[in-house]
Amino acid sequence: MRGTDTIIAVEEFACKSAYAAFSTRLGGVSRGAYESLNLGLKSGDEPGRVARNTRLFWEATGLDSSRHVRTEQVHSDVVAVVTEREPLGTAQGADALVTRVPRVPLVAYFADCTPVFFLDPVTRSGGIAHAGWRGTVKGIVSRVVDMMESEFGSNPRDLLAVIGPSIGPCCYVVGEEVRRAAAKGLPWADSVLIEAKGGGPEPAWKFDMWGANRRLLVDAGMEPGNISCWRICTSCRRDMFFSYRRDGPHSGRMAGVFCLEGEQGKHDMPEGEGF
Ligand SMILES: [Zn+2]
Repeated sequence: MRGTDTIIAVEEFACKSAYAAFSTRLGGVSRGAYESLNLGLKSGDEPGRVARNTRLFWEATGLDSSRHVRTEQVHSDVVAVVTEREPLGTAQGADALVTRVPRVPLVAYFADCTPVFFLDPVTRSGGIAHAGWRGTVKGIVSRVVDMMESEFGSNPRDLLAVIGPSIGPCCYVVGEEVRRAAAKGLPWADSVLIEAKGGGPEPAWKFDMWGANRRLLVDAGMEPGNISCWRICTSCRRDMFFSYRRDGPHSGRMAGVFCLEGEQGKHDMPEGEGF
């Protein structure tokens, strides 16, 4: 990782013809619970401030925001393929975006859910996924690998993935509904659910979303050594991030962005060494 206060760049992708970054809560203009770089319009912050924060975010990335595409984020396992012909804006029904088109930033919003960035340096394609518990138990990250294989001819063994800041197993306590869904969707659910003792009258588990998404990627054919997990918990790091679980619905949102660089892209760098 590296970056300014406002964003953390995905260093794992640097020098590989792609740029990816995740925003922090620092360096913006929102106040109170939204202090300060809130990028979410739907949680009650003043729209003018969110617009200003959004400009600050794009400035920090150095990307051209005019061609960006966003996920709709409905906790689906739908992966949208962004092409040159795709109308820009929001990809309806999608929680993940993949592309082979340079200079089209792909954006998703987060406040605890797991961001997963993808890059295939061989076919020069990649994308971003928004994996909450619903998307995780539906295997959205596996759908991304499948889609890159079928659409771009990617070999899963060539793919790189980065699991960014999100709520960790330290803080993500879930109840029976989530446990049951996980047990149904993930054959190895027991290995990512740890019984949380002393939390109250209802049974509760700590859900390791980082481990679950990593396991899904390996099951989809990726090399374990090509999957990087930052292990930064959004709930623990109040100083750096918003957290829906910690702060409730009236809290800010972060953004993740992925963009392939063109031949003369602003972020272009010579081909580097291994991952
Ligand atoms: Zn934590």
